Amino acid sequence: RQAGDRPPLTLYLARPRGFCAGVDRAIKIVELALERFGAPVYVRHEIVHNRFVVESLEARGAIFVDELDEVPPDMPVVFSAHGVPKSVPAEAERRKMLYVDATCPLVSKVHREAERHHRDGQHILLIGHAGHPEVVGTMGQLPDGAVQLVETVADAGRVAVADPKRLAYITQTTLSVDDTAAIVARLRQRFPAIIGPHREDICYATTNRQEAVKAIAGDCDMVLVIGAPNSSNSLRLVEVARKAGCPSAALVQRAADIDWSTMSDVRRIGLTAGASAPEVLVQEVIAALQAHFDVTLQDVTVTEEDVHFKLPRVLQQA
Ligand code: SF4
Repeated sequence: RQAGDRPPLTLYLARPRGFCAGVDRAIKIVELALERFGAPVYVRHEIVHNRFVVESLEARGAIFVDELDEVPPDMPVVFSAHGVPKSVPAEAERRKMLYVDATCPLVSKVHREAERHHRDGQHILLIGHAGHPEVVGTMGQLPDGAVQLVETVADAGRVAVADPKRLAYITQTTLSVDDTAAIVARLRQRFPAIIGPHREDICYATTNRQEAVKAIAGDCDMVLVIGAPNSSNSLRLVEVARKAGCPSAALVQRAADIDWSTMSDVRRIGLTAGASAPEVLVQEVIAALQAHFDVTLQDVTVTEEDVHFKLPRVLQQA
């Protein structure tokens, strides 16, 4: 259609958005493992929570499995960015498997924090979402019972601990900054001696993407968050956008998910992407919007990121 036929639309592009350093590293690890060891390379769990990324790697020879016992013992295996319980590398070593751990260094940092608290005799409360692989991995750093999960302010209000003077909390890296602050405040009220991280466990990428979507949400008739339904940080971006003044914020996996019937009166859209969503999907959504609207693009940058993580030594020369 000609520009004149299409209704005008201002498209606010949140920055930072999309891939973080941990996701970038995890995908590179699988790509380099494929180069170094040849296909197939097994990957335990979705390397990052994004179908598009998983399918692209499958096309190059990666095979995704749920558990180690699905991997033939003579094949290399990569562990996902979310981290794994200690039992997983232990089992890989027992079976003499070649494994590469793609756990994000910022998740590993939380694992070490948990171990330190445990060594110091603290009981640990983990603020996070039950069943998320990162939570399973973090709880699995320590013996059963050493870490107790707290999901909500209500949980924080009723959690029972043996010794309130020997208590620490850690958090999942991809939580809502504001919701977590409320949970921590409730814990501190009940247990004034509770020890927490020096700096937040919520990672820089989660924090920055939430800040960026907050900066645009109040000005938008609709916010689209590109991400997967099982991606914690993407779901949090939708919630943050709603709370920041855009009740119609929605998660879409890619352009085909957009419900155009809801868009006729929309004149200002905000666009962002979770830390596991590739920029190519953002560009696909922009192109789809440009086909329906006469789009004016506006970048809204809250901060610049310059974070890179080293690759595991086994792949560094690959
Ligand atoms: Fe690491 Fe944060 Fe990215 Fe998770 S969202 S992979 S913790 S940088």
